[in-house]
Amino acid sequence: MTESTASYKKRMQLKKSYIDKRIKQANINKSLIVLLTGNGKGKSSSALGMIYRSLAYNMKVGVVKFLKGEQHTKEDEFLIKHKDIKAFFMKTGFTWDTQDTSYDTKKAIETWLEAEKLLQDENIDLVVLDELTYMLNYKYLDKKQVIYAIKNRIKKQHVIITGRAADKSLIDIADTVSEIKDIKHAFRDNIKAQKGIDY
Ligand code: ATP
Ligand code: MG
Repeated sequence: MTESTASYKKRMQLKKSYIDKRIKQANINKSLIVLLTGNGKGKSSSALGMIYRSLAYNMKVGVVKFLKGEQHTKEDEFLIKHKDIKAFFMKTGFTWDTQDTSYDTKKAIETWLEAEKLLQDENIDLVVLDELTYMLNYKYLDKKQVIYAIKNRIKKQHVIITGRAADKSLIDIADTVSEIKDIKHAFRDNIKAQKGIDY
């Protein structure tokens, strides 16, 4: 049975008044911690989307990429070259390539110190900590130190954290948490990573 025009109109009016009320209620202005986790594709690229949005408002951005291959991608080159972005990369192979925990830990700590500087930099409006979750899960970084630095960042800064299997401590401090669910991924059909989509 199709809904009558009058009933549809009434339903939409109710919906509108509810949404208008909720928008009015949301009057707090505060910097956010956004956590993007889960096994599906779209975490880092979502962070890049928010970088793009921020740059469009002439905001200054800091990016720290953990768990990084030795080669820079085109996307990394873009981040490095952009005048409004400060970018840092953990210049090490993946854990399963290096197979050297003490080396990985050393690199993770070195990279984290750059993140801490950004979190105290008055000129930076947004800090992206890409693939940070693994640094806690592998115990390369001290959880308490990481949480403290993020919580005690300069007041105006937004922070975006990405990576699978986010630790509860990250979920607890975040304002917005999305878990991206893996329903299908082309890779499982033996399709290679595609330029512009995957890297
Ligand atoms: P993206 O950078 O594309 O947003 P992501 O940050 O959500 O991906 P990562 O775990 O960081 O995911 O993996 C990055 C790379 O791995 C991308 O090339 C992505 O397409 C691929 N990938 C992500 N999820 C899956 C999956 N479930 N199976 C296979 N490959 C994946
Ligand atoms: Mg990612």
